[in-house]
Amino acid sequence: MPEFSIGVDLGGTNLRIAAVSRDGGLLEKVTLGTKVALGRDHVINEMCDAIQRLSSKYKSTGIFLGAGIGIPGIIDMQTGMLRKSANLPGFEDYPVRREIERRLGARVVLENDANLAALGEQWLGAARGIGNVAVVTLGTGIGGGIVLEGKIWHGMNGMAGEFGHVTVEPQGYLCGCGNHGCDERYASASAIMRMAREAIASGEAPSFAQAASSDPEFGAKSIYDLAIQGDERARQIFRSFGRYLGILLAGLINTLNLDMYVIGGGVSSAWDAYAPKMFEELRARSLVYAATAPDHPLGSSSSGKEEGASSQTESRTERKTVITLALLGSDAGLYGAARVAVPAG
Ligand SMILES: [Zn+2]
Repeated sequence: MPEFSIGVDLGGTNLRIAAVSRDGGLLEKVTLGTKVALGRDHVINEMCDAIQRLSSKYKSTGIFLGAGIGIPGIIDMQTGMLRKSANLPGFEDYPVRREIERRLGARVVLENDANLAALGEQWLGAARGIGNVAVVTLGTGIGGGIVLEGKIWHGMNGMAGEFGHVTVEPQGYLCGCGNHGCDERYASASAIMRMAREAIASGEAPSFAQAASSDPEFGAKSIYDLAIQGDERARQIFRSFGRYLGILLAGLINTLNLDMYVIGGGVSSAWDAYAPKMFEELRARSLVYAATAPDHPLGSSSSGKEEGASSQTESRTERKTVITLALLGSDAGLYGAARVAVPAG
């Protein structure tokens, strides 16, 4: 009988659930709203009902291995409790895993959503077939995860992979975490908007001011469109973005020396606008990257996978550090959640 697991992505706005076969085939995907305002018990009831509906549907033809649940927050892996979650009020200091296990009568794994996105990309996405990878997710902030030999690296207590709070500018902008100059203040969607607002306020970017007044959806994508059309101020913003992302990656590469670094999240698709500066920075700041860079790294948005794949067959000394775009989009976390539910071995 084929085996399957259930992956859950419990976000602040959406609750997404997927049944996935053990070999990574999608059986079914469901999206529900997360009515966080109705309280913790409501969210947990709705989630357990949906997991049960989906698992009983596929139990007639397969063996249910368990459920993995991705949560935006810091999870104590020993107790299965949330230490901190800004988007899920009432979940802290509550035995989330034990409660869900009790209701489902199945194995349940709770995991940080960024860690699961990293595992998903390693299992079925950009880093498929590659054991050691770091995934940097560029969204409103910066998230991340490290996968070593196919397993999430949690660190001592589940807090590893906080790439967004690495200092890249010692005297820089204050971050919500209390530090100054965190990477997510310089290389995220909100950083792009901060730079755009500064440019508008200084009066040096009439093109931004015009776009802001005519486009109700004015955002990081609008600045990207301007950059691609050749707007110099917009291009400058993405060069700055690429520079700080390069500083972060140079540190990761020097520290970890992994096979692959995957860049995901909404803003990552602005690759053509930020990647040249990012690679320039990497070569200048990372001796490890300079020694292991592929010949044509800029092609890696399309051909990086091939470079990565071919490096597996080359001799050890010829292996290259590949930096490439994520492939699974927002489904990465869902696949990672299904994967983490599969018992090891
Ligand atoms: Zn910070």
